[in-house]
Amino acid sequence: MSALLEVTDLTRRYAMRASAWPWSPPIAVRAVDGVSFRVEAGRTLGLVGESGCGKSTTARLVLGLMPPSSGTVRFDGELVPSRRDAAWRSLRRRMQMVYQDPLAALDRRLTALDQVSEPLEVFNDGDPAGRRERARDMMASVGLPQHLFERFPHELSGGQRQRVVLARALTLGPSLLVCDEPVSALDVSVQAQVINLLREIQARERVAYLFISHDLKVVRHVSDEVAVMYLGRIVEQGPPDELFRDPAHPYTQALVSAVPTPWRSKEAGRIVLKGDPPNPAAVPGGCAFHPRCPRALPICARQAPVLTGIGGGRQAACHLLISP
Ligand code: SF4
Repeated sequence: MSALLEVTDLTRRYAMRASAWPWSPPIAVRAVDGVSFRVEAGRTLGLVGESGCGKSTTARLVLGLMPPSSGTVRFDGELVPSRRDAAWRSLRRRMQMVYQDPLAALDRRLTALDQVSEPLEVFNDGDPAGRRERARDMMASVGLPQHLFERFPHELSGGQRQRVVLARALTLGPSLLVCDEPVSALDVSVQAQVINLLREIQARERVAYLFISHDLKVVRHVSDEVAVMYLGRIVEQGPPDELFRDPAHPYTQALVSAVPTPWRSKEAGRIVLKGDPPNPAAVPGGCAFHPRCPRALPICARQAPVLTGIGGGRQAACHLLISP
């Protein structure tokens, strides 16, 4: 069965100078390096990793907001064009984005109702009265009371703004929402409301989510499948319960160990990694994680491990997990 979203060997390189010196030679930075995954209709893939690991660049590549250096993105069987032409616009209508900061995502000069009906105007969908009626229905369906419809973004709370962003993203009836840290700018109490709303929407509209977050607890809660990224690559992927209960890759083990649970205090059993993630312009050879890995072998500095099936529908890229 073909997936709604199929990403194959996606790579994005940038050229940047090796130093601030203007004559220094440009070097290639791989923000995303050979990433592959699938998202089925109505399902959620959670993408986790530290800041700067390539999650947000992956989101932009998926939506065709920047061209890949190599690799492909297929949406509902069609190749997502790397140019913003009529074919891209037609696909883009069915793939919407939910950003981290709802205030930045909204136009401060427009009321909530204007913002939600705007995508229908852009795509010339229906007549003006019908568009506003549909926008009102969508706003009500995400739990916005009518007295907020004519308010401006600065007159709404963070949670209300994110509901407007969601209503705006849903108004065209997309099949995929790319959610880039959709709750990290919200208070903890509001985060739970927005997460529950996303789940309700998925159950009702059968929308698929590519859910990007650094918050493992949130990702575990919303995802059907989780992919862990480190320096532009997926290092582990699998069903959330198994992956969080028994992480296979040393990097995933460190991430999971930092999440407090009711039966474990914040510091007990925590794996503290050495140093910060390396500069993406100077990715270490072999396994990119080896300078920080508490279990590195001599081979790890020489040879990059390949993402390999490890049973139970899981994959990991680590020499420790490859049978001799
Ligand atoms: S391949 Fe080596 S360095 Fe990389 S995660 Fe596995 S053990 Fe650690």
